[in-house]
Amino acid sequence: MVDYDVIVAGAGVSGATAAAMAGKLGKKVLLLDRNTDLEPGKKTVWGWVCGDAVARSHITFTQKNLGNTFSNEALGLKVDGVVALSPDLGYKLPFDGEGYSLERPVFGKELFDEAIKNGAEFRGKFSVEGPIIEDNKVKGVFGKNEKGEAEKITGKITIDALGIASLLRRKLPENQYIDKEIDYEDLELTGRFIYKTDESIDDPKYYDKKNALIHLNQQMAPGGYGWVFPKTNGRVNVGLGVQHRSLEARNKKFGATDNLKSLIEKYVKWNPLFKNYQLDSSHKNGEGYWSVSVRRQMEGMAYPGYLGAGDSMASANPLSAGGIGPALIGGILAGKAAATAVETGDTSLEGLWNYNVEYVKQYGKSMAGMEIFRIFLQSMNNQEIDYGMKNFITYEEAVEITYGRIPELSLAKKVSKLVKGVGAIRAFKDLAWTTNKMKELNAIYANYPKSPAEFPEFKRTVIATVNEAKARMPSGPV
Ligand SMILES: Cc1cc2nc3c(=O)[nH]c(=O)nc-3n(C[C@H](O)[C@H](O)[C@H](O)COP(=O)(O)OP(=O)(O)OC[C@H]3O[C@@H](n4cnc5c(N)ncnc54)[C@H](O)[C@@H]3O)c2cc1C
Repeated sequence: MVDYDVIVAGAGVSGATAAAMAGKLGKKVLLLDRNTDLEPGKKTVWGWVCGDAVARSHITFTQKNLGNTFSNEALGLKVDGVVALSPDLGYKLPFDGEGYSLERPVFGKELFDEAIKNGAEFRGKFSVEGPIIEDNKVKGVFGKNEKGEAEKITGKITIDALGIASLLRRKLPENQYIDKEIDYEDLELTGRFIYKTDESIDDPKYYDKKNALIHLNQQMAPGGYGWVFPKTNGRVNVGLGVQHRSLEARNKKFGATDNLKSLIEKYVKWNPLFKNYQLDSSHKNGEGYWSVSVRRQMEGMAYPGYLGAGDSMASANPLSAGGIGPALIGGILAGKAAATAVETGDTSLEGLWNYNVEYVKQYGKSMAGMEIFRIFLQSMNNQEIDYGMKNFITYEEAVEITYGRIPELSLAKKVSKLVKGVGAIRAFKDLAWTTNKMKELNAIYANYPKSPAEFPEFKRTVIATVNEAKARMPSGPV
Protein backbone atom coordinates (compact mmCIF):
# COMPACT_ATOMS: atom_id res chain seq x y z
CA MET A 1 0.00 0.00 0.00
CA VAL A 2 1.54 3.33 -1.01
CA ASP A 3 0.66 6.76 0.35
CA TYR A 4 0.18 8.54 -3.01
CA ASP A 5 -0.12 7.86 -6.73
CA VAL A 6 2.31 10.66 -7.53
CA ILE A 7 4.79 12.50 -5.32
CA VAL A 8 6.06 15.73 -6.84
CA ALA A 9 9.20 16.94 -5.07
CA GLY A 10 9.68 20.69 -5.55
CA ALA A 11 6.91 23.24 -6.07
CA GLY A 12 8.74 25.51 -8.52
CA VAL A 13 7.73 25.99 -12.14
CA SER A 14 8.21 22.36 -13.19
CA GLY A 15 6.84 20.82 -9.97
CA ALA A 16 3.72 22.95 -9.61
CA THR A 17 2.96 22.32 -13.30
CA ALA A 18 3.46 18.55 -12.98
CA ALA A 19 1.25 18.44 -9.88
CA ALA A 20 -1.45 20.52 -11.59
CA MET A 21 -1.38 18.19 -14.62
CA ALA A 22 -1.40 14.89 -12.69
CA GLY A 23 -4.12 16.30 -10.40
CA LYS A 24 -6.22 17.34 -13.37
CA LEU A 25 -5.94 13.76 -14.62
CA GLY A 26 -7.49 12.55 -11.38
CA LYS A 27 -4.45 11.18 -9.57
CA LYS A 28 -3.77 11.38 -5.84
CA VAL A 29 -0.87 13.85 -5.78
CA LEU A 30 1.41 15.11 -3.03
CA LEU A 31 3.42 18.26 -3.72
CA LEU A 32 6.40 18.83 -1.42
CA ASP A 33 8.65 21.82 -0.90
CA ARG A 34 10.89 23.30 1.75
CA ASN A 35 9.05 26.61 1.29
CA THR A 36 5.64 27.31 2.78
CA ASP A 37 2.52 27.84 0.68
CA LEU A 38 3.13 31.60 0.97
CA GLU A 39 6.27 31.46 -1.18
CA PRO A 40 5.82 28.79 -3.82
CA GLY A 41 8.64 28.53 -6.34
CA LYS A 42 11.16 30.50 -4.28
CA LYS A 43 14.41 28.86 -5.34
CA THR A 44 16.70 29.74 -2.48
CA VAL A 45 16.93 32.18 0.42
CA TRP A 46 17.72 34.79 -2.26
CA GLY A 47 14.23 34.53 -3.73
CA TRP A 48 12.90 33.60 -7.18
CA VAL A 49 16.28 34.21 -8.81
CA CYS A 50 15.66 34.39 -12.55
CA GLY A 51 15.74 36.70 -15.56
CA ASP A 52 11.94 36.15 -15.74
CA ALA A 53 11.77 36.10 -19.56
CA VAL A 54 9.69 33.43 -21.27
CA ALA A 55 8.47 32.91 -24.82
CA ARG A 56 4.72 33.25 -25.36
CA SER A 57 4.58 29.83 -27.05
CA HIS A 58 5.48 28.14 -23.74
CA ILE A 59 2.73 29.99 -21.90
CA THR A 60 0.22 29.05 -24.61
CA PHE A 61 1.28 25.37 -24.42
CA THR A 62 0.79 25.36 -20.65
CA GLN A 63 -2.59 27.08 -20.69
CA LYS A 64 -3.81 24.72 -23.40
CA ASN A 65 -2.88 21.68 -21.35
CA LEU A 66 -3.91 22.88 -17.90
CA GLY A 67 -6.94 24.83 -19.10
CA ASN A 68 -5.91 27.79 -16.94
CA THR A 69 -5.36 31.45 -17.77
CA PHE A 70 -2.49 33.33 -16.18
CA SER A 71 -3.39 36.83 -14.98
CA ASN A 72 -1.89 39.92 -16.56
CA GLU A 73 -0.16 40.60 -13.26
CA ALA A 74 1.64 37.23 -13.40
CA LEU A 75 2.61 37.61 -17.05
CA GLY A 76 4.05 41.07 -16.38
CA LEU A 77 5.37 42.98 -19.38
CA LYS A 78 4.78 41.78 -22.92
CA VAL A 79 7.97 41.93 -25.04
CA ASP A 80 8.57 41.54 -28.78
CA GLY A 81 11.49 39.19 -28.20
CA VAL A 82 15.04 38.83 -27.00
CA VAL A 83 17.80 40.67 -28.84
CA ALA A 84 21.49 39.74 -28.57
CA LEU A 85 23.99 42.58 -29.18
CA SER A 86 27.55 42.09 -30.36
CA PRO A 87 30.39 43.19 -28.01
CA ASP A 88 30.89 46.44 -29.98
CA LEU A 89 27.11 47.02 -29.81
CA GLY A 90 27.14 47.39 -33.60
CA TYR A 91 25.03 44.40 -34.47
CA LYS A 92 21.85 42.76 -33.21
CA LEU A 93 20.43 39.28 -33.55
CA PRO A 94 16.96 38.20 -32.43
CA PHE A 95 16.07 35.26 -30.19
CA ASP A 96 12.93 33.41 -29.29
CA GLY A 97 10.09 35.68 -30.55
CA GLU A 98 7.34 37.32 -28.53
CA GLY A 99 7.16 36.69 -24.85
CA TYR A 100 6.75 38.03 -21.34
CA SER A 101 8.87 39.47 -18.60
CA LEU A 102 7.10 37.62 -15.80
CA GLU A 103 6.35 38.68 -12.25
CA ARG A 104 7.92 35.47 -11.03
CA PRO A 105 6.50 35.29 -7.46
CA VAL A 106 2.96 35.91 -8.76
CA PHE A 107 3.42 33.47 -11.65
CA GLY A 108 4.72 30.80 -9.25
CA LYS A 109 1.75 31.33 -6.94
CA GLU A 110 -0.76 30.98 -9.78
CA LEU A 111 0.81 27.71 -10.92
CA PHE A 112 0.80 26.49 -7.32
CA ASP A 113 -2.87 27.48 -6.85
CA GLU A 114 -3.72 25.55 -10.02
CA ALA A 115 -2.13 22.42 -8.54
CA ILE A 116 -4.15 22.82 -5.33
CA LYS A 117 -7.35 23.55 -7.30
CA ASN A 118 -6.77 20.30 -9.20
CA GLY A 119 -6.66 18.35 -5.96
CA ALA A 120 -2.95 18.15 -5.12
CA GLU A 121 -2.14 18.04 -1.40
CA PHE A 122 0.73 20.31 -0.35
CA ARG A 123 3.23 19.88 2.45
CA GLY A 124 5.56 22.79 3.02
CA LYS A 125 8.69 23.01 5.18
CA PHE A 126 9.51 19.49 4.04
CA SER A 127 13.17 19.01 3.21
CA VAL A 128 13.61 16.19 0.71
CA GLU A 129 16.85 14.32 1.39
CA GLY A 130 16.75 11.48 -1.13
CA PRO A 131 14.78 8.78 -2.89
CA ILE A 132 13.57 5.57 -1.24
CA ILE A 133 15.14 2.84 -3.36
CA GLU A 134 13.98 -0.77 -3.30
CA ASP A 135 15.02 -3.33 -5.91
CA ASN A 136 16.58 -0.57 -8.04
CA LYS A 137 13.29 1.28 -8.21
CA VAL A 138 12.28 4.63 -6.69
CA LYS A 139 9.43 4.05 -4.25
CA GLY A 140 9.08 7.55 -2.80
CA VAL A 141 11.18 10.05 -0.87
CA PHE A 142 12.69 10.48 2.57
CA GLY A 143 13.44 13.72 4.32
CA LYS A 144 12.74 15.96 7.30
CA ASN A 145 9.24 17.20 7.95
CA GLU A 146 8.13 20.56 9.36
CA LYS A 147 8.93 19.37 12.89
CA GLY A 148 12.45 18.35 11.86
CA GLU A 149 11.57 14.66 12.17
CA ALA A 150 12.78 12.06 9.68
CA GLU A 151 9.92 10.84 7.52
CA LYS A 152 9.40 8.53 4.56
CA ILE A 153 6.60 9.04 2.05
CA THR A 154 5.78 6.41 -0.56
CA GLY A 155 4.34 6.88 -4.03
CA LYS A 156 3.85 4.88 -7.22
CA ILE A 157 5.76 7.54 -9.17
CA THR A 158 8.09 10.26 -7.90
CA ILE A 159 8.59 13.36 -10.03
CA ASP A 160 11.88 15.13 -9.36
CA ALA A 161 11.34 18.87 -9.71
CA LEU A 162 13.93 19.94 -7.12
CA GLY A 163 15.89 22.17 -9.47
CA ILE A 164 19.50 22.12 -10.50
CA ALA A 165 20.98 20.85 -7.22
CA SER A 166 18.38 18.08 -6.84
CA LEU A 167 19.09 15.63 -4.03
CA LEU A 168 16.87 13.06 -5.71
CA ARG A 169 18.84 13.03 -8.96
CA ARG A 170 22.15 13.04 -7.12
CA LYS A 171 21.16 10.11 -4.91
CA LEU A 172 19.82 7.83 -7.63
CA PRO A 173 21.68 4.54 -7.96
CA GLU A 174 24.46 4.59 -10.58
CA ASN A 175 22.68 4.41 -13.91
CA GLN A 176 23.32 5.19 -17.54
CA TYR A 177 20.20 7.31 -18.14
CA ILE A 178 20.60 10.31 -15.88
CA ASP A 179 23.92 11.94 -14.95
CA LYS A 180 24.02 12.52 -11.22
CA GLU A 181 26.27 15.57 -11.44
CA ILE A 182 26.36 18.46 -13.89
CA ASP A 183 29.81 19.27 -15.24
CA TYR A 184 31.11 22.60 -13.88
CA GLU A 185 31.92 23.70 -17.43
CA ASP A 186 28.27 23.30 -18.36
CA LEU A 187 27.07 25.67 -15.65
CA GLU A 188 26.59 29.41 -15.79
CA LEU A 189 27.13 31.14 -12.46
CA THR A 190 24.56 33.89 -12.48
CA GLY A 191 23.41 36.82 -10.46
CA ARG A 192 20.66 39.32 -10.96
CA PHE A 193 19.02 42.42 -9.50
CA ILE A 194 15.60 43.97 -9.96
CA TYR A 195 16.00 47.73 -10.06
CA LYS A 196 13.54 50.57 -10.34
CA THR A 197 14.97 53.08 -12.82
CA ASP A 198 13.89 56.51 -14.02
CA GLU A 199 14.06 55.28 -17.64
CA SER A 200 16.07 58.36 -18.46
CA ILE A 201 17.79 56.94 -21.51
CA ASP A 202 16.36 56.24 -24.90
CA ASP A 203 19.02 54.04 -26.49
CA PRO A 204 18.01 50.51 -27.46
CA LYS A 205 21.63 49.38 -27.19
CA TYR A 206 21.34 49.66 -23.42
CA TYR A 207 17.64 49.54 -22.62
CA ASP A 208 14.68 48.68 -24.78
CA LYS A 209 11.16 48.74 -23.34
CA LYS A 210 10.00 46.34 -26.02
CA ASN A 211 12.83 43.82 -26.02
CA ALA A 212 14.86 41.81 -23.58
CA LEU A 213 18.51 42.76 -24.30
CA ILE A 214 21.46 40.41 -24.10
CA HIS A 215 25.00 41.78 -24.20
CA LEU A 216 27.56 39.31 -25.52
CA ASN A 217 30.98 40.34 -24.30
CA GLN A 218 33.78 37.98 -23.27
CA GLN A 219 35.42 40.61 -21.10
CA MET A 220 32.30 41.81 -19.32
CA ALA A 221 30.67 38.39 -19.03
CA PRO A 222 33.24 35.72 -19.94
CA GLY A 223 31.60 32.59 -21.35
CA GLY A 224 28.12 34.00 -20.76
CA TYR A 225 26.31 37.27 -21.21
CA GLY A 226 24.85 40.28 -19.45
CA TRP A 227 21.16 41.10 -19.69
CA VAL A 228 18.78 44.00 -19.23
CA PHE A 229 15.19 42.81 -19.34
CA PRO A 230 12.44 45.45 -19.06
CA LYS A 231 9.63 44.99 -16.55
CA THR A 232 6.50 46.97 -15.74
CA ASN A 233 6.67 50.43 -14.09
CA GLY A 234 10.20 51.30 -15.16
CA ARG A 235 11.70 48.32 -13.39
CA VAL A 236 14.35 46.12 -15.00
CA ASN A 237 15.80 42.73 -14.34
CA VAL A 238 19.56 43.14 -14.81
CA GLY A 239 22.02 40.31 -14.47
CA LEU A 240 25.02 38.49 -15.72
CA GLY A 241 26.14 34.89 -16.19
CA VAL A 242 29.70 33.59 -16.51
CA GLN A 243 31.36 30.28 -17.17
CA HIS A 244 33.88 29.59 -14.44
CA ARG A 245 36.65 28.47 -16.82
CA SER A 246 36.23 31.48 -19.11
CA LEU A 247 36.30 33.82 -16.13
CA GLU A 248 39.54 32.28 -14.89
CA ALA A 249 41.14 32.60 -18.34
CA ARG A 250 40.04 36.24 -18.61
CA ASN A 251 41.32 37.13 -15.13
CA LYS A 252 44.64 35.46 -15.85
CA LYS A 253 45.10 37.29 -19.12
CA PHE A 254 44.34 40.72 -17.62
CA GLY A 255 45.84 40.10 -14.19
CA ALA A 256 42.35 40.76 -12.78
CA THR A 257 40.64 39.27 -9.74
CA ASP A 258 37.02 39.77 -10.79
CA ASN A 259 34.28 37.52 -9.55
CA LEU A 260 30.60 37.31 -10.42
CA LYS A 261 29.63 40.08 -8.00
CA SER A 262 32.27 42.54 -9.17
CA LEU A 263 31.43 41.83 -12.81
CA ILE A 264 27.76 42.60 -12.20
CA GLU A 265 28.69 45.83 -10.44
CA LYS A 266 30.86 46.85 -13.40
CA TYR A 267 28.14 45.89 -15.87
CA VAL A 268 25.59 48.05 -14.07
CA LYS A 269 28.04 50.96 -13.97
CA TRP A 270 28.76 50.55 -17.69
CA ASN A 271 25.08 50.88 -18.63
CA PRO A 272 23.90 54.54 -18.77
CA LEU A 273 20.38 53.42 -17.79
CA PHE A 274 21.60 53.03 -14.24
CA LYS A 275 22.08 56.61 -13.08
CA ASN A 276 19.18 56.93 -10.72
CA TYR A 277 18.03 53.56 -9.58
CA GLN A 278 17.05 51.65 -6.51
CA LEU A 279 16.55 48.05 -5.54
CA ASP A 280 12.98 46.77 -5.87
CA SER A 281 12.81 44.61 -2.79
CA SER A 282 9.17 43.55 -3.05
CA HIS A 283 8.78 39.86 -2.11
CA LYS A 284 12.41 40.18 -0.85
CA ASN A 285 13.32 39.26 -4.42
CA GLY A 286 15.56 42.13 -5.50
CA GLU A 287 19.00 40.54 -5.39
CA GLY A 288 20.12 36.97 -5.84
CA TYR A 289 22.67 34.49 -7.12
CA TRP A 290 22.20 30.95 -8.40
CA SER A 291 23.32 28.65 -11.23
CA VAL A 292 21.75 27.53 -14.44
CA SER A 293 22.91 24.67 -16.65
CA VAL A 294 23.66 25.19 -20.34
CA ARG A 295 24.00 21.60 -21.52
CA ARG A 296 21.49 19.40 -23.37
CA GLN A 297 18.84 17.94 -21.07
CA MET A 298 19.80 14.60 -19.50
CA GLU A 299 19.84 12.05 -22.32
CA GLY A 300 17.17 10.11 -20.44
CA MET A 301 14.84 11.69 -17.86
CA ALA A 302 13.22 8.52 -16.51
CA TYR A 303 14.31 5.79 -14.10
CA PRO A 304 12.12 3.00 -12.67
CA GLY A 305 9.48 4.75 -10.53
CA TYR A 306 10.98 8.18 -11.27
CA LEU A 307 10.60 11.03 -13.75
CA GLY A 308 12.62 14.26 -13.79
CA ALA A 309 11.41 17.66 -15.01
CA GLY A 310 12.88 21.15 -15.34
CA ASP A 311 16.26 22.17 -13.94
CA SER A 312 16.73 18.84 -12.13
CA MET A 313 17.21 17.40 -15.64
CA ALA A 314 19.39 20.31 -16.86
CA SER A 315 16.66 21.23 -19.31
CA ALA A 316 17.38 24.96 -19.74
CA ASN A 317 18.20 25.97 -23.32
CA PRO A 318 22.01 25.73 -23.73
CA LEU A 319 22.19 28.90 -25.78
CA SER A 320 19.82 31.28 -24.00
CA ALA A 321 19.77 29.55 -20.56
CA GLY A 322 15.98 29.92 -20.73
CA GLY A 323 14.65 27.24 -18.42
CA ILE A 324 11.10 28.38 -17.62
CA GLY A 325 9.70 27.11 -20.95
CA PRO A 326 11.31 23.67 -20.71
CA ALA A 327 10.29 23.45 -17.03
CA LEU A 328 6.67 24.09 -18.04
CA ILE A 329 6.84 21.56 -20.87
CA GLY A 330 8.62 18.98 -18.69
CA GLY A 331 6.03 19.53 -15.96
CA ILE A 332 3.08 19.00 -18.30
CA LEU A 333 4.58 15.90 -19.92
CA ALA A 334 5.81 14.38 -16.64
CA GLY A 335 2.36 14.92 -15.07
CA LYS A 336 0.73 13.14 -18.01
CA ALA A 337 3.31 10.32 -18.08
CA ALA A 338 2.92 9.74 -14.34
CA ALA A 339 -0.87 9.58 -14.66
CA THR A 340 -0.61 7.06 -17.51
CA ALA A 341 1.84 4.89 -15.55
CA VAL A 342 -0.49 4.87 -12.53
CA GLU A 343 -3.39 3.84 -14.78
CA THR A 344 -1.51 1.04 -16.56
CA GLY A 345 0.25 -0.03 -13.36
CA ASP A 346 3.54 -0.07 -15.27
CA THR A 347 6.12 2.10 -13.53
CA SER A 348 9.10 0.24 -14.96
CA LEU A 349 11.62 2.07 -17.14
CA GLU A 350 9.99 0.57 -20.24
CA GLY A 351 6.60 1.76 -18.99
CA LEU A 352 7.89 5.31 -18.49
CA TRP A 353 10.05 5.50 -21.61
CA ASN A 354 7.48 7.33 -23.69
CA TYR A 355 8.07 10.41 -21.48
CA ASN A 356 11.58 10.69 -22.95
CA VAL A 357 10.26 10.26 -26.46
CA GLU A 358 7.55 12.90 -25.99
CA TYR A 359 9.87 15.41 -24.34
CA VAL A 360 12.42 15.08 -27.12
CA LYS A 361 9.67 15.46 -29.72
CA GLN A 362 8.06 18.46 -28.03
CA TYR A 363 11.21 20.40 -27.08
CA GLY A 364 14.43 18.50 -26.45
CA LYS A 365 15.30 17.44 -29.98
CA SER A 366 17.49 20.40 -30.85
CA MET A 367 19.14 21.05 -27.47
CA ALA A 368 22.30 18.96 -28.07
CA GLY A 369 22.82 20.89 -31.30
CA MET A 370 22.35 24.16 -29.41
CA GLU A 371 24.98 23.02 -26.94
CA ILE A 372 27.49 22.73 -29.79
CA PHE A 373 26.62 26.28 -30.83
CA ARG A 374 27.15 27.46 -27.26
CA ILE A 375 30.57 25.76 -27.15
CA PHE A 376 31.43 27.53 -30.41
CA LEU A 377 30.31 30.90 -29.06
CA GLN A 378 32.28 30.45 -25.83
CA SER A 379 35.42 29.74 -27.87
CA MET A 380 35.40 33.10 -29.65
CA ASN A 381 36.88 36.38 -28.49
CA ASN A 382 35.09 39.73 -28.77
CA GLN A 383 36.60 40.61 -32.15
CA GLU A 384 35.55 37.27 -33.58
CA ILE A 385 32.03 37.61 -32.24
CA ASP A 386 31.76 41.16 -33.65
CA TYR A 387 33.06 40.02 -37.00
CA GLY A 388 30.99 36.83 -37.10
CA MET A 389 27.72 38.53 -36.19
CA LYS A 390 28.23 41.10 -38.91
CA ASN A 391 29.45 38.88 -41.68
CA PHE A 392 28.62 35.25 -41.16
CA ILE A 393 25.03 35.09 -40.03
CA THR A 394 22.03 36.96 -41.40
CA TYR A 395 19.11 38.02 -39.26
CA GLU A 396 16.96 35.20 -40.67
CA GLU A 397 19.67 32.59 -40.10
CA ALA A 398 20.05 33.69 -36.48
CA VAL A 399 16.31 33.25 -35.94
CA GLU A 400 16.57 29.72 -37.35
CA ILE A 401 19.50 28.85 -35.08
CA THR A 402 17.80 30.11 -31.93
CA TYR A 403 14.81 27.92 -32.72
CA GLY A 404 17.19 24.97 -33.04
CA ARG A 405 16.73 24.65 -36.77
CA ILE A 406 19.89 24.67 -38.83
CA PRO A 407 19.75 27.05 -41.75
CA GLU A 408 21.72 26.50 -44.90
CA LEU A 409 24.23 29.17 -43.99
CA SER A 410 25.09 29.74 -47.63
CA LEU A 411 28.68 29.59 -46.47
CA ALA A 412 30.07 29.52 -49.98
CA LYS A 413 28.73 33.01 -50.56
CA LYS A 414 30.35 34.19 -47.37
CA VAL A 415 33.80 32.93 -48.24
CA SER A 416 34.27 36.08 -50.30
CA LYS A 417 33.90 38.12 -47.12
CA LEU A 418 36.85 36.34 -45.60
CA VAL A 419 39.16 38.28 -47.85
CA LYS A 420 38.33 41.22 -45.65
CA GLY A 421 38.81 39.32 -42.45
CA VAL A 422 41.67 36.89 -42.57
CA GLY A 423 41.83 36.86 -38.78
CA ALA A 424 38.37 35.36 -38.66
CA ILE A 425 39.20 32.29 -40.69
CA ARG A 426 39.35 30.03 -37.64
CA ALA A 427 35.96 31.24 -36.43
CA PHE A 428 34.56 30.78 -39.91
CA LYS A 429 35.85 27.21 -40.19
CA ASP A 430 34.51 26.44 -36.73
CA LEU A 431 31.12 27.86 -37.65
CA ALA A 432 30.93 25.59 -40.70
CA TRP A 433 32.01 22.64 -38.53
CA THR A 434 29.51 23.62 -35.84
CA THR A 435 26.52 23.81 -38.15
CA ASN A 436 27.38 20.39 -39.59
CA LYS A 437 27.60 18.90 -36.10
CA MET A 438 24.30 20.57 -35.16
CA LYS A 439 22.69 18.89 -38.14
CA GLU A 440 24.25 15.56 -37.19
CA LEU A 441 22.95 15.81 -33.63
CA ASN A 442 19.49 16.91 -34.72
CA ALA A 443 19.36 13.83 -36.97
CA ILE A 444 20.46 11.60 -34.07
CA TYR A 445 17.75 13.07 -31.85
CA ALA A 446 15.17 12.68 -34.63
CA ASN A 447 15.78 8.94 -34.13
CA TYR A 448 15.61 9.04 -30.35
CA PRO A 449 15.61 5.44 -28.97
CA LYS A 450 12.11 3.97 -28.88
CA SER A 451 13.07 1.75 -25.94
CA PRO A 452 15.78 1.53 -23.26
CA ALA A 453 17.52 -1.26 -25.21
CA GLU A 454 18.58 1.13 -27.98
CA PHE A 455 19.71 3.81 -25.53
CA PRO A 456 23.39 3.00 -24.80
CA GLU A 457 24.48 3.40 -28.42
CA PHE A 458 22.52 6.67 -28.74
CA LYS A 459 24.09 8.11 -25.61
CA ARG A 460 27.59 7.08 -26.63
CA THR A 461 27.22 8.91 -29.95
CA VAL A 462 25.82 12.07 -28.39
CA ILE A 463 28.57 12.28 -25.77
CA ALA A 464 31.30 11.57 -28.32
CA THR A 465 30.03 14.40 -30.55
CA VAL A 466 29.78 16.92 -27.72
CA ASN A 467 33.24 15.97 -26.46
CA GLU A 468 34.64 16.37 -29.95
CA ALA A 469 33.27 19.94 -29.99
CA LYS A 470 34.72 20.72 -26.56
CA ALA A 471 38.14 19.43 -27.63
CA ARG A 472 38.10 21.37 -30.90
CA MET A 473 36.78 24.65 -29.46
CA PRO A 474 37.99 25.13 -25.87
CA SER A 475 36.40 28.00 -23.99
CA GLY A 476 38.07 31.08 -22.59
CA PRO A 477 39.95 32.59 -25.54
CA VAL A 478 39.71 36.28 -24.47
C1 LIG B 1 19.96 34.24 -12.55
C2 LIG B 1 19.11 33.36 -13.42
C3 LIG B 1 18.45 33.91 -14.50
C4 LIG B 1 17.61 33.13 -15.28
N1 LIG B 1 16.91 33.73 -16.28
C5 LIG B 1 15.99 33.03 -16.97
C6 LIG B 1 15.14 33.68 -17.91
O1 LIG B 1 15.18 34.90 -18.12
N2 LIG B 1 14.26 32.91 -18.59
C7 LIG B 1 14.15 31.57 -18.39
O2 LIG B 1 13.33 30.91 -19.05
N3 LIG B 1 14.91 30.94 -17.47
C8 LIG B 1 15.82 31.63 -16.75
N4 LIG B 1 16.56 31.00 -15.79
C9 LIG B 1 16.32 29.56 -15.52
C10 LIG B 1 15.01 29.33 -14.75
O3 LIG B 1 14.95 30.18 -13.65
C11 LIG B 1 14.90 27.87 -14.33
O4 LIG B 1 15.13 27.06 -15.46
C12 LIG B 1 13.55 27.50 -13.70
O5 LIG B 1 13.34 28.17 -12.50
C13 LIG B 1 13.48 25.99 -13.44
O6 LIG B 1 12.35 25.67 -12.69
P1 LIG B 1 12.29 24.35 -11.80
O7 LIG B 1 10.92 24.30 -11.23
O8 LIG B 1 12.74 23.18 -12.58
O9 LIG B 1 13.36 24.54 -10.65
P2 LIG B 1 13.41 25.63 -9.48
O10 LIG B 1 12.82 26.91 -9.94
O11 LIG B 1 14.81 25.65 -8.99
O12 LIG B 1 12.45 25.05 -8.33
C14 LIG B 1 12.90 24.03 -7.46
C15 LIG B 1 11.95 23.95 -6.26
O13 LIG B 1 12.37 22.85 -5.44
C16 LIG B 1 12.48 23.25 -4.09
N5 LIG B 1 13.54 22.44 -3.47
C17 LIG B 1 14.83 22.32 -3.87
N6 LIG B 1 15.50 21.46 -3.09
C18 LIG B 1 14.61 21.01 -2.16
C19 LIG B 1 14.69 20.07 -1.09
N7 LIG B 1 15.83 19.41 -0.82
N8 LIG B 1 13.59 19.83 -0.36
C20 LIG B 1 12.41 20.48 -0.64
N9 LIG B 1 12.27 21.38 -1.64
C21 LIG B 1 13.35 21.64 -2.39
C22 LIG B 1 12.81 24.73 -4.13
O14 LIG B 1 12.40 25.37 -2.94
C23 LIG B 1 12.00 25.19 -5.37
O15 LIG B 1 10.68 25.54 -5.00
C24 LIG B 1 17.45 31.74 -15.00
C25 LIG B 1 18.13 31.18 -13.93
C26 LIG B 1 18.95 31.97 -13.14
C27 LIG B 1 19.65 31.34 -11.97
